[in-house]
Amino acid sequence: MSSSLKQILSGILMMAGAGMPFSVADEIEADLPSLCGSLDKAFQKRAWGKNPCGSLSWKFETTSVQGRPLIYLVFGPENSKNTTLILSMVHGDEITPLYLGFQISQWAEENMKRYPDARLVIAPFINPDGFLGYPKSRTNAHGVDCNRNFSTRDWQKEALAQWKKRFHSDKRRFPGYKPDSEPETLFQKGLIEKFKPHKIISIHSPLNVLDYDGPDHVKLFRFSEEYVEKCQELREKLNAKSTGFYPGSLGNFTGKDLGIPTITLELPTANHTKAKEYWQKFKKGLELAISHEIPPRSTK
Ligand SMILES: [Zn+2]
Repeated sequence: MSSSLKQILSGILMMAGAGMPFSVADEIEADLPSLCGSLDKAFQKRAWGKNPCGSLSWKFETTSVQGRPLIYLVFGPENSKNTTLILSMVHGDEITPLYLGFQISQWAEENMKRYPDARLVIAPFINPDGFLGYPKSRTNAHGVDCNRNFSTRDWQKEALAQWKKRFHSDKRRFPGYKPDSEPETLFQKGLIEKFKPHKIISIHSPLNVLDYDGPDHVKLFRFSEEYVEKCQELREKLNAKSTGFYPGSLGNFTGKDLGIPTITLELPTANHTKAKEYWQKFKKGLELAISHEIPPRSTK
C-alpha cells in the first residue's frame, strides 16, 4: 500500500474514532518520502544527477534522534557465506560519502545478481540529522559522535578521558556520557548482530587512507589460520593500512573486539564536486571487497 494511501486511510479511521491503526514501522514509512525528498534537493544542489533513494526497496525499523528513518538495503541469500556490510555517512558534515553510499546502493540493485552467493547489506545514511540539520554536523542531534559511541572494551576507561585530554573536549568528537547511548549507534550494532557480516566497509572523508582494523590486531589464536590469511589477503588486495583507533569507534569495536575485518575508506576530501570522481576511482575496490570471500570465524 502506498504511504499516501495509508495516510488517507489513517485519517479516515481516526475521524471514525478508531484511534491509531498503524504500527511504528508504518509511521516511519510515512517519513521515507520526506527523507528521499530532502536527498533529491541535496543531489540537485550539488549537480549529482538523479538521487536513487526513491526507487530502492529500503528497510527500516528505527529512527534517528529527530525521527528520520534509518534506512538499509539487503541483497543476496540469507545463508550466504560471504556477507558484507557497508556503512556510510555516520558523520553528517563529510558530504562525499553520501554520494558514494547511494551510488553503491544503486550499483548493488543493478549488479548484485552477478554475485548470487554473496550477501550485501548497505546503510548509506547513518546520520541523517547531522547532514540535514543547519549547520551540518559531524555529530548526531544529541551532539554525540556516533563513531566514538560503540561499547568497545576500552570505552568506560578511556573514551571520556581521551576525549578530554587528547581532543581537548572537542565538541565534534564527544563520545556521549555512556556507550551505545544513541539510536544511530544501536542501528549499526543491530545490523551487525542481525546480519553477522564477514567484513565491514565504512565510508568517510577526508583523511585519504584505506584503514584496516581486523584480526592482526588481536590475538590470532582466536581465529583459524585460514580466516586470518583471508583477512590479510583482503587487506593487501586493497592496499589498506592499519592506522590508530579510538575508544568507541566502529573499527575498534568490530575489527579489534569482534575480529571482523573492517575497512574504512576515507575519501580524499569532503569536496562535493569531487564525489563523482571518487565513485569512479573506488567502485572497483568496493566491488572487489564485496566479492572477496572470508571463511566464517571459528567459534572456538
Ligand atoms: Zn568520518
